[in-house]
Amino acid sequence: MKLLADQVAIVTGGTRGIGKGIAACFIEQGASVAIFGTNPERGNEAAKELQASAPEGQKVTFYQVDVGDAKQVASTLEQVYNDFGHVDVLVNNAGITRDSLLMRLTEEDWEQVININLKSIYNTCRGVIRPMIKARRGKIINITSVVGLMGNAGQTNYAASKSGMIGFTKSLAKEMGGRNICVNCVAPGFIETDMTDALNEKQKEAILNQIPMQKLGKPQDIANAVLFLASPLADYVTGQVLTVDGGMVMA
Ligand code: NDP
Repeated sequence: MKLLADQVAIVTGGTRGIGKGIAACFIEQGASVAIFGTNPERGNEAAKELQASAPEGQKVTFYQVDVGDAKQVASTLEQVYNDFGHVDVLVNNAGITRDSLLMRLTEEDWEQVININLKSIYNTCRGVIRPMIKARRGKIINITSVVGLMGNAGQTNYAASKSGMIGFTKSLAKEMGGRNICVNCVAPGFIETDMTDALNEKQKEAILNQIPMQKLGKPQDIANAVLFLASPLADYVTGQVLTVDGGMVMA
């Protein structure tokens, strides 16, 4: 039996990197998937590619939406419910960085990161919890970062957004515990994607020195953890932060 048979999942930022890995993994496990992103060419291409790997009866659809925009998210979610009928799993994965030391950090870069990484989960969660409460089931997984646990120079905006996601997750988990809705975080360490491609060799070497397993992770490593939390294997797990980082952070 596949772990997500007949389920419908939303993966924000599912058009590339970690999100695309999560979408592919969910499809393999029987789910239909709605992927969100802002770039329509990339999004449609990703949906086409993912659809080609999906068995008959499973659907993959791309929605062009800025997750930081409450109105766009509300109308997109309405569309998703019309198209798919129900949503069993929400993965809040879309995220950006705008790195700079605080002294040089502009208000625009502060607001953009907080809006897209943090306010976005308010936008999406508010739209799915009512139907999930009605269905008396649901899984919400928020992709935070090890940076939200330990901080990082040059990333006050990003770290604040990612720590904020953790507080949000634990609070919502407490609100939803009695409704059979589980809310958890996955905190990736350094994973090979476009986001980390932007780092130079010196930065990568410094990062590798902090990782006991001495390698970067792959999107599949994160997808496996998200799959666990989305699946019935984690029906009694809520309010947790599952760190997947080659041992970088050991609390
Ligand atoms: P990428 O930069 O490779 O991909 C980001 C994804 O988010 C894209 O699909 C992008 O789509 C989407 N996205 C960005 N802005 C918006 C927006 N406003 N509305 C909707 N979608 C948006 O990132 P990664 O795959 O590396 O990271 C995914 C998540 O994992 C992020 O939250 C990141 O913070 C987190 N993370 C990543 C780590 C890493 O090492 N890579 C480490 C720790 C955490 P489009 O381009 O179409 O907008």
